[in-house]
Amino acid sequence: MDLSAHHTFGLPSQCSDWVELRSLAQVRAAIAVMEQPPLILGEGSNSIFLTDCDQPVWHIALPGIDVLGADTDFHYIRVGAGVNWHAWVEWSLHHGYPGLENLALIPGSVGACPVQNIGAYGLEVDQRLHSVCYVDIKNGQSFELMAADCGFGYRDSRFKQDLAGRALITAVTFRLPRLWQPMMAYRDVAMMFDALPTSPWQVFDAVVDIRTRKLPDPWVHGNAGSFFKNPIVSGAQAQVLTQGHPAVPMYPQANGYFKVAAGWLIDQCGLKGYRVGDAGVSPVQALVLMNLGRATASDLRTLIAHVQDQVMDRFGIALEPEPNLYGA
Ligand code: FAD
Ligand code: NAP
Repeated sequence: MDLSAHHTFGLPSQCSDWVELRSLAQVRAAIAVMEQPPLILGEGSNSIFLTDCDQPVWHIALPGIDVLGADTDFHYIRVGAGVNWHAWVEWSLHHGYPGLENLALIPGSVGACPVQNIGAYGLEVDQRLHSVCYVDIKNGQSFELMAADCGFGYRDSRFKQDLAGRALITAVTFRLPRLWQPMMAYRDVAMMFDALPTSPWQVFDAVVDIRTRKLPDPWVHGNAGSFFKNPIVSGAQAQVLTQGHPAVPMYPQANGYFKVAAGWLIDQCGLKGYRVGDAGVSPVQALVLMNLGRATASDLRTLIAHVQDQVMDRFGIALEPEPNLYGA
């Protein structure tokens, strides 16, 4: 199987064992005959194959959207892990269940949304989750983990920690508020409105518009979204950083730490548009690295190292890649 079409960065890569899982029965059957731990793949928008893959790749394609019911405050809706994220957001609005509009146009599958606790424009998905259903690949047992037990953090969860490579997420149950309120704290969204929006579709359209202008379409120009995590620094480090660079965008976190905008750091190093072979820094959003045509793994590795070195030299901050780099 050619993996270049199964990860949005689109580097050339092959795998010899590709399995498509469309039902719980197929998941159980695959586990029963498993000889080697699989690599679990949704739509590959947060995964980059730098080499050929010698593990079996299990592509999660479980369908289904089921409205489970409601209580006084929330609607509960279970969605199959293989459903496309943006299609689900659109479905929820069309059927009168708002609450996910700030997360419109994020590529990928529903099954991957809890893994890095996807977030954008002031909303993280854990704020809208009830629970996550998964099968433990080690023993075939099924579990439903409540959101409070998923260890959600900033772009983090137990599915990246102790449950990594073990939990195969089969469905996600959302908890959407019956009383809709627009989430307007994020500057780019707020700037699109003169008055508070009265419909979630207005927020949805605004987010789609902002994203379309700022981010390269991964199906046109290969990319994996934000390539580096926004570094979280201590209060003391933040003070040193602001003394040297008063304009640095920083956002206070709950624990006295600060989140630094990695894209700004890269931009300050003059790297917008910088390229190594066919791998380049987006000329519009410095946090996005792109495949400008026929990028190789070597182009991308050299580019990553260059960006990291420049930011380290100038700011003393180590940037860590956000996507999963297979074969690194
Ligand atoms: P994959 O890349 O296929 O997998 C990602 C990880 O999840 C892997 O570790 C994989 O093993 C695991 N995984 C996938 N499915 C399952 C499953 N069913 N069970 C267990 N583990 C699983 N992210 C944000 O948070 N916010 C954004 O605004 C955002 N914008 C983006 C914009 C662009 C243009 C792109 C290309 C990416 C963006 N991303 C963003 C990153 C990405 O879209 C998300 O991380 C998304 O949730 C990945 O989904 P996927 O199905 O493509 O995951
Ligand atoms: P941006 O608006 O240029 O802002 C740069 C960074 O500053 C963002 O990463 C954001 O952190 C932070 N920020 C801005 N306003 C903030 C606020 N009011 N409170 C807290 N933090 C704030 O970002 P962008 O690149 O255009 O992206 C817009 C949104 O889409 C962001 O939420 C971003 O995370 C998301 N996005 C994510 C990916 C991905 O692959 N992970 C790709 C594209 C876009 P946060 O990232 O924590 O929001």
